[in-house]
Amino acid sequence: MADNPYAVLGVPKDATNAEIKRVYRKLARQYHPDRNPGDAAAEEKFKSIQAAYDIIGTAEARKEFDNQGRVQDMFGDGNPFSNFGGGGFPRGPDIGDMFSQFMGGRNQQQNQNFRSKPREKRTQRQATNESQKGSDIESGLDITLEDAVVGTDIQFNHRRLKVCKKCNGSTFGTTKNCSECNASGVSTRESTITVKVPPGAIHGQQLRLNKMGNEHPNGEPGDLIINIRLDADEGRRWENGRLIQEVAISYTTIILGGKIQIKTPNNERIQIVVPPRSKIGDRRRLNGHGHDGGPLDIEFSILEPEKLNKKQIAALEKLKELGL
Ligand SMILES: [Zn+2]
Repeated sequence: MADNPYAVLGVPKDATNAEIKRVYRKLARQYHPDRNPGDAAAEEKFKSIQAAYDIIGTAEARKEFDNQGRVQDMFGDGNPFSNFGGGGFPRGPDIGDMFSQFMGGRNQQQNQNFRSKPREKRTQRQATNESQKGSDIESGLDITLEDAVVGTDIQFNHRRLKVCKKCNGSTFGTTKNCSECNASGVSTRESTITVKVPPGAIHGQQLRLNKMGNEHPNGEPGDLIINIRLDADEGRRWENGRLIQEVAISYTTIILGGKIQIKTPNNERIQIVVPPRSKIGDRRRLNGHGHDGGPLDIEFSILEPEKLNKKQIAALEKLKELGL
């Protein structure tokens, strides 16, 4: 498998779609071949950034990648239920893939058998008449900080497996065939649902919509689990539930100290003091200035001027002579 696209772009797995786009644009500019002529390493990097963005750059593609990841996690790490949910959508009449939808409520041993011999397992399944359940579906939903404070209704395009209209699920687990569902008993259908996001929603909050997951021909439907992601806007990001705001400071202020103005997520302008000999990456916590009255962590970065005038260049040359 190719490199993890989240790692290539350097974004957390719970980054919003908008954040992924911003980071991609920034990196693409930085490593663009026009900007790095003859630099093979930069070109490679540029290509891998493009490839990563192809995988998670749109909400649809990203959903598919995330769901595939979950199915692989179920088999891969020895703890198939650590990230329980299944949730991928079948792409065409691949029975093994279809059956990965029905992992809900089954133990690991069965899942592993199931992977290696999906067809045989299917006949065994009829014999074991245990409670069966459609799998849960996990999905991400991006909303703005402002909407999260007051709550909002979001129209959500929802694809899930529903019991087959043609055979009503009756062909599942039998030797009969159904041209509609290929005897899986279910088919993928799409609908628009409205998701109510409560006021004061936080990044990473999960909403569980009972029985809105994949349906099962012989059992209860799974749930739809929605991971709320708050778009923290340009220059801000979430880190383990903390809102981080990057503040670009001029080189001289970082070294000598000084006062700067920043704009908080609540659109307030506040002044902060930069202590002398600060470092890039230093952080300060501002209580009450983050999302919904929570803390805001500001992180110092360095302001990189796009253009310099002659006077500034002369001054910098002078500093260089002095060993700075
Ligand atoms: Zn059918």
